[in-house]
Amino acid sequence: MIPYADLKAQYRALKPEIDRAIQHVLDESTYILGPAVSAFERDFAAFCNTTEAIGVNSGTSALHLALLAAGVRPGDEVITVPFTFVATVASIEYAGAKPVLVDVEPDYWTMDPARVEAAITPRTRAIVPVHLYGQPADMDPILAIAEKHGLPVIEDACQAHGSEYRGRRCGSMGRLGCFSFYPGKNLGAYGEGGAVVTSDSALAAKIRLLRAWGEEVRYEHKYRAFNYRMDGIQGAVLGVKLKHLEAWTTARRSRAAVYADRLRDTPAMLPFERAGVRHVYHAYVVRLKERDVWRARLGEAGVQTGVHYPIPVHLQPAYRDLGYDVGAFPVAEQAAKEVLSLPMFPELTDEQIDTIAALFRAGVVAEVRG
Ligand SMILES: *Cc1c(COP(=O)(O)O)cnc(C)c1O
Repeated sequence: MIPYADLKAQYRALKPEIDRAIQHVLDESTYILGPAVSAFERDFAAFCNTTEAIGVNSGTSALHLALLAAGVRPGDEVITVPFTFVATVASIEYAGAKPVLVDVEPDYWTMDPARVEAAITPRTRAIVPVHLYGQPADMDPILAIAEKHGLPVIEDACQAHGSEYRGRRCGSMGRLGCFSFYPGKNLGAYGEGGAVVTSDSALAAKIRLLRAWGEEVRYEHKYRAFNYRMDGIQGAVLGVKLKHLEAWTTARRSRAAVYADRLRDTPAMLPFERAGVRHVYHAYVVRLKERDVWRARLGEAGVQTGVHYPIPVHLQPAYRDLGYDVGAFPVAEQAAKEVLSLPMFPELTDEQIDTIAALFRAGVVAEVRG
């Protein structure tokens, strides 16, 4: 069996270090925030090239607080994309605002800068590009449009730990950047976790209050706020794992290069890497005309795959009342039909990639049809 991801291999490699860090939190009983979280926040801000990182309890919470800190209020509109994990859109509604969607670019599947300006109205309060699969969105034109209209950009960098666009780290280019440390992300906690990064100290201070009941003084609530604090144990685990992230990213990029070599001349259409970026391959996503048939057959052959995502947000049952119909975002809708995420994790071997490529080369779809 070739798994889609292998969290156990990573834990086995780091077990003594991780267990010691967790034991320390237990010995000190610093279960919520505390020194392990503060130390991780410092290290993660440095990693992102920002001055501040605020640890929270999920990527969704990070997006929610970033939107609130940026001034998003009920009745506002926030521009984002339909081809993303649902949390991007959900968090905009948590802030009381209306998600306004624009289609993604062909090939890269990130926010199409050419479509942003037409979506701006007097109610627009923020723009949220998503660095999907670890590939940076085309930030320079997006930032230029945002600046022209006086709008903050909030990066959904939940899949883009360590990605770079023209030398700048994802999360550091907009006013605020949001990360998830869900266990399957490139930097994953052993439970839920997330962070907001920024180099605006006033926004950082506000987010620190919003994540913990708005208390500057105990039991004195400056803001109506939330319980979005990061656990001490997650801070400790993330602190250990962050030191290994560059090596894992290098391994992911080398796995992607091996895939690109081995999948040549197969029906799997390779992912594009934007010029001038460092893609971190949170997912290695090929396109296939008969995606579902391939997926089933690979599964029967013992290869686990994923589809990120089979239904764009505007066509989800829960979001039909956003008011977009089939055909509203043709690039996103086409991508949803064709994308297939192949196994991708730092420990994936060349032999495993050879096995997967051989299955594509053997034309397993033809076989299925007899
Ligand atoms: C994972 C993810 C989120 C949400 O993060 P959680 O930690 O699961 O709340 C948001 N946006 C994108 C693009 C994601 O991949």
